[in-house]
Amino acid sequence: PPGDDSTCGSDNVKVYVRVRPLNTRGGSGDGGPAAKACLTCPPGGGRRTVLLADASRSEPYTATFDRVFGPEEGQQQVFEAVGAQLVENCMAGINSSLFVYGQTGAGKTHTITGEVERGAEDGAVCEDTGLTLRIFRQLFDRITEDEHDGVRFTVKCYNCEVYGEEVTDLLAPGASGLQIRDGDQHQGIYVEGLSEHVVVNADDVMQLIQRGSANRHTAATRMNERSSRSHSVFTAVVEAHEEQGESGVTHVQFAKMNLIDLAGSERVGKSGATGDRLTEAKGINKSLTTLGRVVSALTERQQHVPYRDSRLTFLLKESLGGNAKTSIVACVSPSEDSAQETHSTLVFAAGAK
Ligand code: ADP
Ligand code: MG
Repeated sequence: PPGDDSTCGSDNVKVYVRVRPLNTRGGSGDGGPAAKACLTCPPGGGRRTVLLADASRSEPYTATFDRVFGPEEGQQQVFEAVGAQLVENCMAGINSSLFVYGQTGAGKTHTITGEVERGAEDGAVCEDTGLTLRIFRQLFDRITEDEHDGVRFTVKCYNCEVYGEEVTDLLAPGASGLQIRDGDQHQGIYVEGLSEHVVVNADDVMQLIQRGSANRHTAATRMNERSSRSHSVFTAVVEAHEEQGESGVTHVQFAKMNLIDLAGSERVGKSGATGDRLTEAKGINKSLTTLGRVVSALTERQQHVPYRDSRLTFLLKESLGGNAKTSIVACVSPSEDSAQETHSTLVFAAGAK
């Protein structure tokens, strides 16, 4: 019921819903010119409840989340409620992962990347700038505040795409078929041969985001909307080096942050897919359902967490569970045409809590 705190499970997993505006231009996931809304955020729920009342349902479906962002809420509001916490996690040496989940067209890339061309000077933000750049701007502000004699920070970034069983470097052209390795205690799990980029300010990050999304986009036009069927993982490793006293012993604190733009959650293989298309569809569905199972195993504090059941969850193992913090933003369209996909997205998101 609205306002009932008991629906929120583990404090380490936060689940948000973002409702995109109804689009009158038409296109997948955003309704057509005559689009009608069937999803509302009833008042009085403390911005936590959504109500889905489409024609196919005799009773409305409602679910409660940590927070629901309505169509009128912008990127800065999502940053303040969701992104700022990831910066604090990095400064405290805590690993975190942020996922955007939902059907193609629901606003995943808008939320996590957003507009990356306008306002590009010096990593400046514009209204449509997404979470990633906003997070890094704040991270560098916090680093400037915390850096003093004896404490220095370094930030290294990586961006790969996971497409079925294949891992491709989005920041080094041609590097695909990379392997995920379970390294020693110091290295942890890593992608072998993935290019590493040291960044010193938001402008550096801006350039990486532009490069990564251009490479994902190039692949998309070549391979039939591949971007909607692959996961993009943007990772930052933040290291704090601290010299301790006279001895000059250096203490290093690490934090890893992963920002993941998931493949579209629509059932690609629903009808008539065969051969490669079917294999691909199964792979996508598998990684998304595994993610759901991993997150609910963590929320329910189960003994066995099935990280190894998909590439994506294996890669992110150290940033899920333990003291790591996980945030999921489920992106949905309010349009009547999308009611079925919206319902399955809300069911997935509700199951993560
Ligand atoms: P996805 O990555 O989930 O497939 P996109 O983020 O590419 O979807 O969104 C599809 C279109 O809708 C884009 O043109 C995007 O800018 C627009 N859009 C999505 N969400 C919003 C929002 N909350 N506000 C304004 N425009 C949005
Ligand atoms: Mg997208």
